Amino acid sequence: MPPLPESRGDIFDGRRLALNPMLAGFSCIRCQMELPVGDYFEGCPDCLARGKPSTLRSIYRDLPPVLSNGRAHGMRRFAAWMPYISWVSLGEGGTSCARFSSLANELGVADIHIKNEGQNPSGSHKDRMSCMAVARALDIGATTIVAASSGNGGASLALYAAAAGLKCCIVTTPALSRVFQRAITMTGAQIVTASESLERWDHIAKMVKEQGAFSATNYLDPPVGSNHFGLDGLKTIAYEMLEELGPDLVDVVLVPTSRGDLIWGLAEGFDQLKAAGLIKSVPRLYAVEPFARISAVLGGESITGSFPGTTRLASIGGSTVTYQAMEAIRASGGGAVIVKDEMVSRDQIRLARHGCYAELSSAATLTGLELLLKNGVISPDATVALIATSNGYKEDANGGSGQ
Ligand SMILES: [Zn+2]
Repeated sequence: MPPLPESRGDIFDGRRLALNPMLAGFSCIRCQMELPVGDYFEGCPDCLARGKPSTLRSIYRDLPPVLSNGRAHGMRRFAAWMPYISWVSLGEGGTSCARFSSLANELGVADIHIKNEGQNPSGSHKDRMSCMAVARALDIGATTIVAASSGNGGASLALYAAAAGLKCCIVTTPALSRVFQRAITMTGAQIVTASESLERWDHIAKMVKEQGAFSATNYLDPPVGSNHFGLDGLKTIAYEMLEELGPDLVDVVLVPTSRGDLIWGLAEGFDQLKAAGLIKSVPRLYAVEPFARISAVLGGESITGSFPGTTRLASIGGSTVTYQAMEAIRASGGGAVIVKDEMVSRDQIRLARHGCYAELSSAATLTGLELLLKNGVISPDATVALIATSNGYKEDANGGSGQ
């Protein structure tokens, strides 16, 4: 591998922006092709040429045997395991993974923990990606960062870009709720409205290719997933689950899923922990979706197909499937479960009445769990974690929210 490019070393809040000297490069998660440290907005070039977009995983020369630095806080505890060891932080990470025993009793399962990602600075797990994507954009001298979003991702990126002094453009659809419009525009970010979801990607592709913008999210169809530096940030959810739950973790994790950034990040994080000898086995990961996409591909349909459907679960809408989502499920021995909007609305209230006010798409994990218990896919003696990706406060009175 060629030598590492020099990090620019900008200083923010007394800390120098710094690439991890242990980051050796990236490898394709499908064909294993190795690539030097660099920017691959379209994933593995070989797989892309074959019409099979595939994301990249980071390769580290060596990782310290100790997972976290006890003197740091939040996600910064895991800096030595991240592509950037120093970045513009707003205090992301360090969210709770609390036990909900009364809910477990009600459902008839051994234990339920909820990883509450609504506790992040912008109120969602997206902050763990945004901080890494912004670090990379700054490091290569990009002046504009861009993302496709229908809510949470845009609000998160806009906040981190503002803190870093980067221009930010969020490409969205007319469905973006007023709550998110306000959150994004207040940071000074620009909102561009495309007529529908897939059209957002064309706009971003143009900004990347013609204006040199840094894309934090996917713009390909079929999609590859979000930026590979950003994806690495999501592994820290798995690290924090180890710290809170201990090395036995849980048997099953349910994840609200669309293009699979989160479920992939979890799979990769658990995989690293296993390779480091810190856990014995990886929990089974179940993708929760509002209509058949991943489920259809698991049933034999083509991964590059179109799977349109309508849902109020805006954070996990969309008509496409990624290889990273399928690989996370395959590698962990998990699966997918389809939930109906009306059942999820009921479970959002149910969650709140047990002490967790999550956005609608997060409540889908509870609906999915009940279905998997009923079908015998998850046994009553299992221990379970639900990932609540965002909090309910972002939704307007009509329950509108987005990813
Ligand atoms: Zn490849």
